[in-house]
Amino acid sequence: MSNNSNYKDSSSIPPLASGGGGASSSGGGALQYLKDVFNGLKSLATGLRRTLYYFTHHKEIITEQYPENRDTLNLPERFKGEVVMPHDENNEHACTGCTACELACPNATIKIITKFDITPEGKKKKALDKFVYHLELCTMCNLCVVACPTDAIKMAQTFEHSVFDRSELTKILNKPGSKIREGIE
Ligand code: SF4
Ligand code: SF4
Repeated sequence: MSNNSNYKDSSSIPPLASGGGGASSSGGGALQYLKDVFNGLKSLATGLRRTLYYFTHHKEIITEQYPENRDTLNLPERFKGEVVMPHDENNEHACTGCTACELACPNATIKIITKFDITPEGKKKKALDKFVYHLELCTMCNLCVVACPTDAIKMAQTFEHSVFDRSELTKILNKPGSKIREGIE
């Protein structure tokens, strides 16, 4: 068949060279070894030249020394690290417990637990009991922040979230003893 036109039987394959360990071959090996050593030293010198350059040109170094620079870190404006709920000096927040953020979240990162408070008029009023946030599930998509009608939550730029116990990544965002700010419905 025409497909086999390139096929060669074993009789057409050239025989392997024999006696490869001869004197001329050893000489070539030594020469190659010296070339390799030379190339290695040349490569080392190239790398060191760059290192020595930065020793004398500190201002041109752009690699940041984390965590030594933690206090002066300049994160990009759009960087998002976690969802937080700001509280004011009176330990008050702006969350009504409406669950809009929970519904907007695409992967069930938020669970809003509500309770009923009694108003001064003696009426029952729904209020936030616990804002449960699973940081380990959060994709930082920001949809919950956009959905909130009272700007009660925002994205923070914190990023050091490593923990040994995964359960520590489940957070209650409303602080103990906090309540909703007056005037927010
Ligand atoms: S940022 Fe996105 S994934 Fe994270 S809690 Fe909000 S909606 Fe859910
Ligand atoms: S954070 Fe905003 S959207 Fe979520 S329950 Fe509170 S008020 Fe509603």
